[in-house]
Formats: sequence, C-alpha cells, structure tokens
Amino acid sequence: MSDQDHPSHPDHQQTGTHTHVPSGICDACGKVGVDLYKVSLGKDFFNRTYDRLSHTEDLHPKWFCSPCSLEKGYQRDVRNIHQELEKLLADGSSLLSDEKTLLQAISHVEKIESHVKRGRKIHVLLPPREVGLLLIELQQALAARLPTEHSQS
Ligand SMILES: [Zn+2]
Repeated sequence: MSDQDHPSHPDHQQTGTHTHVPSGICDACGKVGVDLYKVSLGKDFFNRTYDRLSHTEDLHPKWFCSPCSLEKGYQRDVRNIHQELEKLLADGSSLLSDEKTLLQAISHVEKIESHVKRGRKIHVLLPPREVGLLLIELQQALAARLPTEHSQS
C-alpha cells in the first residue's frame, strides 16, 4: 500500500480514498442494489492519517451505501474525539487540551448530532444517544476549563 498519493486536503470529510463498486448490498443497513463505497485511507478529525486496511477490524472489509459511508466517517470522528476526551479527563494530555481544538470538536459533534437526529430513522452505525452524550461531556469539559466562570446551568 502506498500512502504517497492520497490527497492532503484540509476538509477531512472529503479526504477518504473511496473505493467504489456500482451495485451490491450495504454491510450496514442491508440495502440491496445500491452504489457501494469503502473508505480505506484518509485523515481523521485531528488530521491524523488513518489506514483502515491495516487495522485488525478490517480483515473483513465492509462496503457501505452512500448514507452509511457518510455515517461511518462520523462514527470514526465521534470515537476519536471520545478517546481524546477520555485522555483529557484522565491526565490532560490530549489533543483537546488545546481550547481551539476543543471548540472545533464541539461544533463538529453538534453537526453530527443534527445529522443523526434529523436524518434517517435507522442509524446502524452511529446511535444518536452516543453522539448526544459525547456532546454533553465535551461541553462540560469546556465549562470546567473556563478560568473565571463556574456557571452550572
Ligand atoms: Zn447502508
């Protein structure tokens, strides 16, 4: 696998290397006869390169329809942000200890939350509850680091 030629585009949602097949069954929602995509290489929310092909869970590659492939990207962001939040709460050594990054993470999770709330009825990959909880925890983390205000509403 060469990772030399993947685009270094600033918008992390568009950076995945999408492998595309014209028609098949979506591995997430089970839709039949839809265009399928597989995201294999790209950048995560923190602009870290990921390579799903070398990941253990990708020994059995999954194929997703277009809405599920979008949701898969959101799921990855939610899990990565959650991991960083846990590190922040544990010992503060986290990418989220930068307040600017923390604010960006909050606005990104808000966007994801509005997507899972108003979108399709079934969210196979990303339970809205998981997104809502993460958003609350991020906002609490932000409130906790404000130096002067301790307003708990
Ligand atoms: Zn699907």
